[in-house]
Amino acid sequence: MNNEIKKVDEEVYEYLEKERQRQENNIELIASENYVSKAVLEANGCVSTNKYAEGKPHARYYGGCENIDAIEDLAVERAKKLFGCDHVNVQPHSGSNANMAAYLAFLKPGDTVLGMNLTDGGHLSHGSPVNISGLWFNFVHYGVNSETETLNYDEIREVAKEVKPKLILCGASAYPRFIDFAKFREIADEVGAILMADIAHIAGLVATGLHPDPIPYCDVVTTTTHKTLRGTRGAIIMCKEQWAKQVDKAVFPGLQGGPLEHLIAAKAVGFKQNLDPSYKEYCQQILKNAQVMAETLKENGFRLVSGGTDNHLMLVDLKSSIGMTGKEAQKLLDDVSITTNKNTIPNETEKPFVTSGIRIGTPAMTTRGMKEKEAAIVAELIVKTLKKLESPEKIREEVLELTSKFPVYGED
Ligand code: PLP
Repeated sequence: MNNEIKKVDEEVYEYLEKERQRQENNIELIASENYVSKAVLEANGCVSTNKYAEGKPHARYYGGCENIDAIEDLAVERAKKLFGCDHVNVQPHSGSNANMAAYLAFLKPGDTVLGMNLTDGGHLSHGSPVNISGLWFNFVHYGVNSETETLNYDEIREVAKEVKPKLILCGASAYPRFIDFAKFREIADEVGAILMADIAHIAGLVATGLHPDPIPYCDVVTTTTHKTLRGTRGAIIMCKEQWAKQVDKAVFPGLQGGPLEHLIAAKAVGFKQNLDPSYKEYCQQILKNAQVMAETLKENGFRLVSGGTDNHLMLVDLKSSIGMTGKEAQKLLDDVSITTNKNTIPNETEKPFVTSGIRIGTPAMTTRGMKEKEAAIVAELIVKTLKKLESPEKIREEVLELTSKFPVYGED
């Protein structure tokens, strides 16, 4: 791998080699990460990176786009088939860009938007005061119910009636339960709002029928392509046909210049793999692994936010379980080569850089072939680490023993 880089740039090569080894050796539990296939990896570095193609397929501002057009057409066709949507734009560079383009398509600066707050699981691009979304639009936030730690649609309806948002945004970065898009549609209709879903985390589960589907209910749906979808880093925007023109205009020329056509090629390849029946089996295994990890953690005295999970992730309340912060736990786990991220939890009392919880997700470990047996082992390794039942050196050896049996890309 990376032989040409080695010839040109030893320094970058060395770091990439270390990163490759880290990815092989560590247990990756960051819920938003995954390992792309070798085919997607190859597409990431393909010659399409050389091409300017502003505009849409068959209506570009540059010549020589015939092959790029054909590839982008494939990405569009496949995404439409995968999600069953009317229209899709496959050009957004990232999830945050896709969200900004969706706002640009439907909102004017200062308009009121109702979205989920960051502490309870929303994303920065859902109106955080430090993000352009929060700086330019009047975001009002709903959270989870403080008792159940799940979305309470009656409470959301009350806020919506009060603030009369132009757009309601559903979707999250750290919410372990199903989202009821039909309920959100009812609320949006009651207050005359556009309904947008950001399914970045759950897209793979949605595409394979393992999570309720937003497409029939939402005007516009954004997703990244690199989380449960297991494709290249990037994003797409889907919408009903009636909004197609304004969504496309918002992406280009509204927000972006030349599309990253090498990543669009990688999106096309990834969607082809998503359409293969084996991808549904993979998503089913993500859920089975999450159930086993959740149960094992609970059996060992860890409290999970909302009591468990319906999807690919869980939030562990360390503060109430073992009196530890998320920051401390992330560090302890890093030291034994288990990668997680500290995360705020509902009713959070710590600063965002400290937090009371960690977020754990199963998509990446499932990609490398780990099943229920390994999910239980991984959860036990977490318990041993956080309760300091064994030395970090011993646990790190156990981690390496496990990961060496499940190569990601291997040596070539
Ligand atoms: N939306 C949600 C729900 C996310 O979880 C994320 C990333 O974690 C994003 C958007 C942003 O995606 P990106 O990092 O590609 O901008």
